[in-house]
Amino acid sequence: MYQSQFFIPTLKEIPNDAQMPSHQLMLRAGLIRQIAAGVFSWLPLGYKVLKKVQDILREEMDAIGGQEFLLPALNPKEIWEQTNRVEAMGDVMFHIKNRDNLILAPTHEEIIAYHASQSVKSYKEVPQIWYQIQNKFRNEPRPKSGVMRGRQFLMKDSYSLDATEEGLDISYEKHSEAYHKIFNRCGIKFFVVGASSGAMGGSKSQEFMVENPFGEDTCAVNYESGYSSNIEVAISKVEPVGRIDNCPEIEKFATPNAKTIKELSEQFDLPVERCAKSVVYIIDSKPVLILMRGIDELNESKVQSYFATNQVRPADENEILDVFGAHPGSLGPINIKKQIQVFADKLLLDANGLISGANEDGQHFKNIDIERDCKIEGYEDFRTVLAGEADTISGNPLKVVNAIELGHIFKLGTKYSEALGAKILDENGKEKPLIMGSYGIGVERVLACVIEQNHDENGIIWNKGLTPFHVHILGLAYDKSEQVQKVCNELKDQLEELGLEILLDDRKERPGFKFKDADLIGIPVQVVIGDRGLEENKVELKFRKTGEKIEISPSNIIESLTKFYEV
Ligand code: ATP
Ligand code: MG
Repeated sequence: MYQSQFFIPTLKEIPNDAQMPSHQLMLRAGLIRQIAAGVFSWLPLGYKVLKKVQDILREEMDAIGGQEFLLPALNPKEIWEQTNRVEAMGDVMFHIKNRDNLILAPTHEEIIAYHASQSVKSYKEVPQIWYQIQNKFRNEPRPKSGVMRGRQFLMKDSYSLDATEEGLDISYEKHSEAYHKIFNRCGIKFFVVGASSGAMGGSKSQEFMVENPFGEDTCAVNYESGYSSNIEVAISKVEPVGRIDNCPEIEKFATPNAKTIKELSEQFDLPVERCAKSVVYIIDSKPVLILMRGIDELNESKVQSYFATNQVRPADENEILDVFGAHPGSLGPINIKKQIQVFADKLLLDANGLISGANEDGQHFKNIDIERDCKIEGYEDFRTVLAGEADTISGNPLKVVNAIELGHIFKLGTKYSEALGAKILDENGKEKPLIMGSYGIGVERVLACVIEQNHDENGIIWNKGLTPFHVHILGLAYDKSEQVQKVCNELKDQLEELGLEILLDDRKERPGFKFKDADLIGIPVQVVIGDRGLEENKVELKFRKTGEKIEISPSNIIESLTKFYEV
């Protein structure tokens, strides 16, 4: 391919509304252009790479017996009403004005269950794995970060249909393995975390995550031991507060100027881990006190799963005053004005020598023995894991990192098949709902994550598998030198014959300009061909990743490149 005939509108400046490196580089290298917030056009260079990601997805899905569908983006709203997801999706679903009540599909569980309900009737016809690579429409509230979070985006979504739980386990495991292969082939460093299935309904789910400072998820990881978890459920090894010997009697004391744990421990020289913090939450409309170490933060997700509700919020000042008769800063588990339930974090189990508010403004208790002096309904892990705490596998420190979700695998169960009447007859002729799994990968997000992990200050660094072209030939003064033209063209033809894809920079541009563009576009090897070198029978090979440059004779290029690409 001659670069003069290939549309690669590179940008010299960093576009000012793009924050993430991948977003900046995809714009600068001419891979994409934005049309509206979260809506992008793929330009030829970007689309070439995107198709290579899709090839990998197709190969690995086919390898686990997946069958490719293409489902429509326009869906009858009434199918979505059967699972109540029109309501559940809320503003995220794009509603469009039309005679026939069609919506733009944000995902495809419903349509899959619909087809299954029509055509899969017996246990003999399963397992099935159905997949597609297709556009999804989601009116994301904060579309930023480029194609990482689009409002129209490509998803590889697949769905498994099974007759039994054991069958689902197998389909799920096959997907897990395929996902590992896919991300490894793309050259992405990732980790897997267990996640709560949220609004999807179902039992087990896992997310494939990528560490990234712009990620919207928070995870605790230790790459050496292999521990990784969403912070929502992460655990660590922390010594409980425990007991001190010869603890004096419980005693109330005045603390007029101490509202925070820090002030309290500093002004009265108290051990900070024994200063207990009283966190007041409204859970299912009832006030609840959760007592924890003052240095800890409550983990709302853990609270939600312990109380099995998502009706969970911090109490406001008026609610606190009403229940405790005191203001925040002086609250505690003893002498609460109204009768409410008190729970405590596990680290406080059987602790004594604790300090806590006395439910009178400016007063605290010290030397509290939690078992003796408080009525605790239950102890549970309510705290958020902190960076540096010991990993439960190896005991080594955990990192707490931001992360991006690349893919998600769910054991859906029967929610969708029941709602849409997707039933089969089992071996005994008994009717039962199909057991479903649902598995998604954001195709553009994969590509963006590859760039996040593979770039430098000069541009993108493609790996051999995804690069839009294998070799970038830079013809210096190509338009002026017949010799350069001849060597460049012969090399291009020979390499193309070997099955390699070649981009030949034949443009009427200065060498410096070509070098900059080549580094920005990021093809793994550049071959620099100019008159000056040719006079000494030399061309230059430059490897984009390492920056290593070697001079070789034109007759040796083919050998070097076929070795590099193993062709
Ligand atoms: P997120 O939490 O990032 O919104 P999600 O939980 O909504 O993701 P799923 O519904 O599980 O995502 O979709 C499967 C995959 O599709 C995700 O793992 C992600 O890679 C991709 N994806 C989801 N939303 C977007 C989006 N707006 N733009 C690009 N890719 C997306
Ligand atoms: Mg989402």
